[in-house]
Amino acid sequence: MLFDINNSTEVRGIGAGFDPDSFAATLLEARIEELVVIAKDVNGLCYFPSEIGPHHPEPDAKNLLGRQVKACQDVGIGVYVVYPVWWDEHLAIHHPEWLMMGKDRSTSLPAYGEPPAISQMCLSHPGLLEVVKQHTSEIFAHCEPDGVWFDMVNPATTSVAACYCVRCVSALEEAGESPVDPVVQQRRQNELCNATIKELTEYARALRPDIRVLYNTMAVLGTAERLPYLDEIEIECIPTGLWGYHYLPVHGRYARGLGVPVYGLTGRFAKHWGDYGGLKHPTQLRSELASTVALGLRCDIGDDPGPALRLDPAVYGTVAEAYQEIERIEPYLRGAAPVSEAAIVVSGPPLSQFAAEMGTDDEEVSSLVDQQLNDAPEMFLENIARGASVTGLTQLLQASHIQFDIVDRADDIERYQLLVLPDTLEVDDELAGRLQRHLDDGKAVLAVHGGARLAGADQLWPRQLRDAFRGESTFERPYTRLRGAALADIGERYREFDFALYVGADLWAVPEGDDLDVYAKLTEPTSDPLHLTGYAIPPSGEPTEYATVVRSGTLGVVSFPLGLGYFRHGYWIYRELFQRLLRDLLPDPLVRSTAPGSTEITVTQQEEPERWIVHIVNHSPLRHRRGGAEYLEDPIPLRDISIDLDIDGPIETAFEARTGTVLDVRRTDDRWQVTVPEIGVAATVVLTR
Ligand SMILES: [Zn+2]
Repeated sequence: MLFDINNSTEVRGIGAGFDPDSFAATLLEARIEELVVIAKDVNGLCYFPSEIGPHHPEPDAKNLLGRQVKACQDVGIGVYVVYPVWWDEHLAIHHPEWLMMGKDRSTSLPAYGEPPAISQMCLSHPGLLEVVKQHTSEIFAHCEPDGVWFDMVNPATTSVAACYCVRCVSALEEAGESPVDPVVQQRRQNELCNATIKELTEYARALRPDIRVLYNTMAVLGTAERLPYLDEIEIECIPTGLWGYHYLPVHGRYARGLGVPVYGLTGRFAKHWGDYGGLKHPTQLRSELASTVALGLRCDIGDDPGPALRLDPAVYGTVAEAYQEIERIEPYLRGAAPVSEAAIVVSGPPLSQFAAEMGTDDEEVSSLVDQQLNDAPEMFLENIARGASVTGLTQLLQASHIQFDIVDRADDIERYQLLVLPDTLEVDDELAGRLQRHLDDGKAVLAVHGGARLAGADQLWPRQLRDAFRGESTFERPYTRLRGAALADIGERYREFDFALYVGADLWAVPEGDDLDVYAKLTEPTSDPLHLTGYAIPPSGEPTEYATVVRSGTLGVVSFPLGLGYFRHGYWIYRELFQRLLRDLLPDPLVRSTAPGSTEITVTQQEEPERWIVHIVNHSPLRHRRGGAEYLEDPIPLRDISIDLDIDGPIETAFEARTGTVLDVRRTDDRWQVTVPEIGVAATVVLTR
């Protein structure tokens, strides 16, 4: 559980509702094992005695941190302290020269008398780090937390980082580099982030060798090089707020492979941080936790109990209900490792998130997005396209119940049976060689659009298709027509139907031959749309010989941006074509199920005792307004859901751990099969040797 409490000096009654005994009793009742408490808030006020301060004018506020830490430790609850690094309103006012600066030399400091904004400070200023270090030593003198969470150290708030403050500009110019080059800027900000993390972690560990140190927003590209200085990774994601329900599956599948424990942090809020009076429906919170643990992540919930620090029975009753359910399945979560047969391969500038959905009602975040769009439009749009294509492919694999990770191209990608290459992946000669060897070893690759192309060349990387590339279609919205096995799968009625390719396509001349199937071909639109239809959309014209979906052995390729297209448009035919290729490339998937595509199914494994755990999460929202958050409050129960698993060796027993229901387990076609009679929010099926 994490507290997010931020007070201005005008607020009165700080800690007025804090009673250590009832505080601890409420946390224990809600099954909270670890609490993250505010050491300093974003206004810059310290809740521990500090020589440099500042403190809230109420005298009791100065000791509030230690009182919370003691209340928890007296009853065996672990405590972390959270300390915001680059958001500090006090420092922003007193040291405006430390603020990050846009290309137009604007900063986030609001006009006098205006409410504070996110005051993003630049990590290049030694004075800032000296303040953080002094505060850290004062916190450790005041209390003995189990961990310290340095909040907001990643300078790429949304996706692109750049700073035009005098230190950043001078450093780049002295190195002979251009400050207006977004690639140069992103690299410098990544270096500053790494240097800051190293310095703060080493400082904290020197003071307290057993301290656990973590930083938020580290489920980003390039985190592998920061790992020596991170004990844990926290993925901040309140799906009903800024992040949406696609963020955690993508970033969780990426971060869980980095080798440190990963937490998924949601919030008890109906919407976003600071949403007083907005309390999530208990079923929605249960659903969010079910998805979190299904990904193999630990769960965390954020609250803002307000300045009085009074824990509200409605909030903690909701949290208790959700955590009690997790407690019932906890024996099957501890030490359980995800089992993966496939991986989406990613690459890109360090610090980049897979930010697909940056549209937000939050004005502060919107202004940061606007700044990035102004300062580095190309890189910003590339990041959004990368995030959208990875998210679209994640949706497709999830809907197909495939077990997969998201991995950096520098990782050991060879260990997966199937590699999925997103629309935006840059495949250079080195990666192309590895992918070709993967195919030669009999393993599978599904390459989408740019992921099939050799970077910087008018060629595709797969050997048998090398010379197929003929450029990009000049039409923004061409069409595709099914044939062969794809037509047989989907239905004869579609033989002459031209399906829209909403995000364009490349032109691939693919000669059909032995072991090379063309599942769909391109149809170009008729020209001159304005004279043809009332909607200015050119209808389909003549079919061409260019292929759009091809299978050759264990290789599947798609000539249009299928991930981006599915994320933006959700067109069912893209899913059908993707699943046609999956059946060819991964004929014996780990899981087959009768559950609908909205259901998340994941498999984890424990070694002692040897058990397989199948998480089935029923993602079943109520109707919501266009662009709004989903309401997971009254799921339609799933009944008699069959799960069959490609597992070797004996399975003796199977049961559903949330209800204790014993399940019949049968061996059919070399697979183990169980049927789950009813699934409300989620089911956790345990199979033991
Ligand atoms: Zn700077």
